[in-house]
Amino acid sequence: MSYIDIVPIGEVEDQLIFTLQPHLSQTFKVKTRIQRRDFDLSLVYDSMRNQYNSSGLLLQLINDVPPDTLKILGITGLDLFIPIFTFLFGEAQLNGVGALVSIHRLQNEFYGIPGDIELLKNRLIKESIHELGHTFGLIHCFTLRCVMNTSTYVEEIDQKSASFCIHCEQAILNGLKRKNF
Ligand SMILES: [Zn+2]
Ligand SMILES: [Zn+2]
Repeated sequence: MSYIDIVPIGEVEDQLIFTLQPHLSQTFKVKTRIQRRDFDLSLVYDSMRNQYNSSGLLLQLINDVPPDTLKILGITGLDLFIPIFTFLFGEAQLNGVGALVSIHRLQNEFYGIPGDIELLKNRLIKESIHELGHTFGLIHCFTLRCVMNTSTYVEEIDQKSASFCIHCEQAILNGLKRKNF
């Protein structure tokens, strides 16, 4: 039995984590479970930017992964960056085990508009499926509604669906078959 592990990093509302579980297991046909672990956030904090280094956090996430973990997805409220980008909604290892999503800029409140928990859940589901899609070997897709379409702005996340287009779906299924799931 293999799992997609969902790992809250820092303070994340439980309802957001629980929301992801059925969507991820249905999309990837793999069971999910929630894992709690400790992170040393001081190692990835950049005081000049007041943000957290995404790649450093991803490295902490994939350190010491349980043998029955197929993929590991970190969810954080921290504002993430990598040196060449102002911010990131998430980051993943292409064909690897780890993926990371930040809810920081998925929240309406960040843009000075009233919060909307259902909209936030939707965005989190899409970004989580997108980043996990990378770990299953998918690259960005030009089909506008496909969840693997790339999003620079939060409005672009709202325009795409939470599903793979037929080509991406097929690529995922072929990959899973090769691993005998
Ligand atoms: Zn991407
Ligand atoms: Zn696609």
